[in-house]
Amino acid sequence: METVADLLRAKKAEIELQLKGIATPAEEQGSISFGKRVGEGTSMAVDRLSQVAVHDKLQVTLADIDRALAKVDEGSYGVCDICGEPIGDGRLEALPWAVRCVRDAARR
Ligand SMILES: [Zn+2]
Repeated sequence: METVADLLRAKKAEIELQLKGIATPAEEQGSISFGKRVGEGTSMAVDRLSQVAVHDKLQVTLADIDRALAKVDEGSYGVCDICGEPIGDGRLEALPWAVRCVRDAARR
């Protein structure tokens, strides 16, 4: 049977893979050239910006997954880190690495 820890580790591996993909140097991507057009530099800069945003988001999720895994070990998985109330089955089903309840997550 797949445990929560299995699920979290699988998700962690998936995100680490995604982060590796994003970390590819911009110069390398730029070398695949189909001829320079006006405005190309701008769209590449925008791509880079959105990549950075995705990268940051993945880093946050990764930190939550690590914390959730620690909580599994501690036996506090499913309990909010802030207020100590149950996070809720529905939320955990949608977000297995949630370490805060909806209320406390929104407050951050
Ligand atoms: Zn809470």
